[in-house]
Amino acid sequence: MEKPFCPKCNHPKVVKSGIVGGRQRFKCKKCNYHFSVNKIGKGIDSYYVVKALQLYVEGISFREIERILGVSHVSVMNWVRQYKIKAPEQYDYRPTYKVLSHAELVKFMTSKENLQGSGMLLTELGDKFMMIKWERFKNS
Ligand SMILES: [Zn+2]
Repeated sequence: MEKPFCPKCNHPKVVKSGIVGGRQRFKCKKCNYHFSVNKIGKGIDSYYVVKALQLYVEGISFREIERILGVSHVSVMNWVRQYKIKAPEQYDYRPTYKVLSHAELVKFMTSKENLQGSGMLLTELGDKFMMIKWERFKNS
């Protein structure tokens, strides 16, 4: 299991500090804050909220976001409402996305043609990377 960062000060140096209620407990070496893995889970949740909202603004549908991030489309709809996010109603381009491994990403990046005029957005997705491209210049 990978050691998490401190949720309070984001310091990477944490030490294991016993097991409480079946959950691994950690102690931050910098600020001495104690936390359990459960609290890290909450941090991951907010990461997915931000990613889901980013994708929504990019024009990706709720169902697609569910498929990409593995969070329910109902959750995504709730977050959109909760944070009062409004995406533009009309796009003159269609977002497309690719999920690439690091090696595939590096290969893709070496070609300048792949990067030009694509309005590219890159986001980390588990152990892979997702690239959203706006194909707005190709169709017009
Ligand atoms: Zn800390």
